[in-house]
Amino acid sequence: MIFGSLQVGVATQGGGEAAIHAVRKLAEELGNDPGKIMLKVDFSNAFNMVDRTEMLAQTYAKLPGLYKWTEFCYAQPAHLFFGDVPLSSMAGVQQGDPLGPLLFSLVLHPLAQRIVRDFPKLNLSVWYLDDGTIIGDMDDVHEVFELIAKEGPSLGLNLNVKKNEIWWPTRAEKDPFPGDVDRIGNNGVKLLGAPIGTKAFTEEFVKKKLVSLEQVCKSLREVNDAQVELGLFRGCLSYNKINHLLRTCPPPLLEQCLEKFDGHFQDMLTEILRIPSLPEDKWEHASLPTRLSGLGITQTKSVAGAAYVGSCMLTLDLVGDLLGRSDYMPDGVAELLALHEEFAGISHDLESLKERPHVQKVLSDEWHQAAFKKLKERSSTRTQNLMLAGTMAHASDWLLAPPIPGLGLHMKSDSFRMALKFRLGLPIFDRPFSCPAQGREGGSCGVEMDVYGDHAICCNHGTSRVFRHNNLRDILSHAAKAAGLSAVVVEKKNQIAGSKRKPGDITVQQYHRGFSSSAFDVTVAHPLQKKHIEVAMSEAGVVAQEAHDRKLQKSLQVCVEEGIQFVPLAWESTGGATESVHEVVRKWTNLEAARGGYSPALIRQTLYSQISCCLQRHLGQAILDRQDELPCARAL
Ligand SMILES: [Zn+2]
Repeated sequence: MIFGSLQVGVATQGGGEAAIHAVRKLAEELGNDPGKIMLKVDFSNAFNMVDRTEMLAQTYAKLPGLYKWTEFCYAQPAHLFFGDVPLSSMAGVQQGDPLGPLLFSLVLHPLAQRIVRDFPKLNLSVWYLDDGTIIGDMDDVHEVFELIAKEGPSLGLNLNVKKNEIWWPTRAEKDPFPGDVDRIGNNGVKLLGAPIGTKAFTEEFVKKKLVSLEQVCKSLREVNDAQVELGLFRGCLSYNKINHLLRTCPPPLLEQCLEKFDGHFQDMLTEILRIPSLPEDKWEHASLPTRLSGLGITQTKSVAGAAYVGSCMLTLDLVGDLLGRSDYMPDGVAELLALHEEFAGISHDLESLKERPHVQKVLSDEWHQAAFKKLKERSSTRTQNLMLAGTMAHASDWLLAPPIPGLGLHMKSDSFRMALKFRLGLPIFDRPFSCPAQGREGGSCGVEMDVYGDHAICCNHGTSRVFRHNNLRDILSHAAKAAGLSAVVVEKKNQIAGSKRKPGDITVQQYHRGFSSSAFDVTVAHPLQKKHIEVAMSEAGVVAQEAHDRKLQKSLQVCVEEGIQFVPLAWESTGGATESVHEVVRKWTNLEAARGGYSPALIRQTLYSQISCCLQRHLGQAILDRQDELPCARAL
């Protein structure tokens, strides 16, 4: 690699993080020496000013393979228009050019090399694109400053003196730098988006971050669409806002700040659910990943260690190079791994961890698995079964689906919220009451409606189950048609001549070898119906499998006699499905993809999301229908 460890902004994984780790290490080790100083270099408008002649010359010398292309892009001035006035763009790299950072770094490189050659005693000299960080003896660093000021302009790199910063934990009163260089307080400095300094400084930094995050989150309520609110919150305004900080700050520096962040996340979820408060165990549940039955709102406390260790492992060699030490070891990692072992019961040694990719993901997955297990163990039997049901393949797709109405992926706020509450096992009613749903022959259901809403989902009265079934059947028949299957008939009349039996919802001709037609039968069972909530299940999917087998027993015989292949497609109302479903989805979406257009994976994902949203929409609605008919205390 051309840039070695001098420049870490291009083609260097974790380059920015490495620079931060290196500075933190030096500040700890040499912080007491007022003879040292750190300089943060800032250029005016660097990317737009960098010299194009030098850029082409460096490309020719270092990357001749790219020269023709670079010449084509940059040898002639580009035309810009300000209203009707044409302007010639003659300097800098183009906004949005994927090669921009590389070309910029090429121009800077001779200067970066000269700095370390002329000043071999520097403790650190590293560039992240136009952000330079130099640490060394005061006089050396000052001479570097002057060298950059002298040599930079011919490359289009002009120091923006006022924005250059000098900092050190024990910075001397006197220094040779110009008066308008920014002198940063001793307790800490912000470098590449991370705070480096005392615990108090770090806390202050994080507090400011939290305040600005809270301000944005206030506007979230105005969106007034629960699905969009949750999507925006989880995708843009939650843990991802703080991941860089977690990767670059040792967790002991962050303790209290992290609690505040997690508290804020909990408040936000409470707000999105529009409930007065969210109990701790339900918050733990919600903060599990979606594939472990949670809502994917990660808590910082459960991933802070994983993030920091992940970053340290990724950058281990690079930080060693930056500091010129072959035996570099980051502080605190062993302690964090011990904590990890204590919680998750899995031990890692540094040597093997160093070789693994995606260390943060490995560690946080293990942590979440353990958190899932612990939470499940201390929960009621119903919650245990509920959590298990939420871990089934594609059962959680509705939580991650983009809310696009045209694709059938949008959910109305009230049913979406109800589905969220159900997933977390929050009690929905204050007390049990008699189910008011009307039957076909008149008269209401009258079965006791429990506080969690389970009865609503298995209630035989009202329209809920029929609508859900037909909705699901229609999604599937649409998928069958899109797959180009011949003569798809959505069954509305009796399939078998002279018989009232109707074994399938969707019939496809010539689908399976040896059968003239295949009948697909859609069925949905509730995994938390009365007989299932008293005994803890050992594995997920038992209820769907039972429903599948029941259908098979009922219709297999008559189908065999008629030469029809019978395929039960069974779901649990919470979203899990039998293998027969996955097999059919796989086959149909492959067929659809082969007919041209989109990739099978994308088609499959959309179909799974449609099914998942459909099931959850009806789950929420079934409860709402019965709730609305509950005599309202306020009306009395
Ligand atoms: Zn009922």
